[in-house]
Amino acid sequence: MNRIRLPFAAILAALATLVLPVRAEPVIQKTVCPACHGKKSLSLTPPNLGQYDGEIGVTPGRPFTTHRFDVKYKTCPLCDGLGFHETYRLTVKPPADAADLDPCPDCRWAGVTACRKCKGSGYLTCAKCQSGGAGKDGKPGWIVTQKSTTTGMRSAMKHSKMLVTPCGTCSGIGRIVCPDCAGRGGVLCRKCKGDGGVPKKEKR
Ligand SMILES: [Zn+2]
Ligand SMILES: [Zn+2]
Ligand SMILES: [Zn+2]
Ligand SMILES: [Zn+2]
Repeated sequence: MNRIRLPFAAILAALATLVLPVRAEPVIQKTVCPACHGKKSLSLTPPNLGQYDGEIGVTPGRPFTTHRFDVKYKTCPLCDGLGFHETYRLTVKPPADAADLDPCPDCRWAGVTACRKCKGSGYLTCAKCQSGGAGKDGKPGWIVTQKSTTTGMRSAMKHSKMLVTPCGTCSGIGRIVCPDCAGRGGVLCRKCKGDGGVPKKEKR
């Protein structure tokens, strides 16, 4: 009997050590989309840079009092119309059943560490419209172009028309989903591979 029991118990113990260390699964939470605030559709008001001066509801240099010029998206481009993003919870409570584990020094039970590229936010400032003429008026996301048109037989009349259009990369939102973490704000911890804890060092 003893001959059979001992190896069996040993196998059980070995299995337990194989299974038990996986305690913490990285926690995924829903974070409300910062562009549409959960509405799933999006309406963006362009900055008033003088492109509609003279029209009703337009005061030069002031925000528009009309929503005629708004750019409307049925499907919010930042969250693809979901209204939220799935993000990793970067700080978690210690698990109750982790007697044989120490918190992972890199992620402290979370199993994930903050994405370096977006510093944990899940979003990046759109690089395309932050440069050049856009981003004026404290409103990134818009591309400003001057269009010169010449009318009249003798080119006597030269018109300069200003165009304010949504950036082709971020659709006028001014930020994009971080490609490194797919908007989750975190990446799986390399040290503990997502467990959140590391085996306790044996005392000698
Ligand atoms: Zn959205
Ligand atoms: Zn990221
Ligand atoms: Zn942009
Ligand atoms: Zn870790």
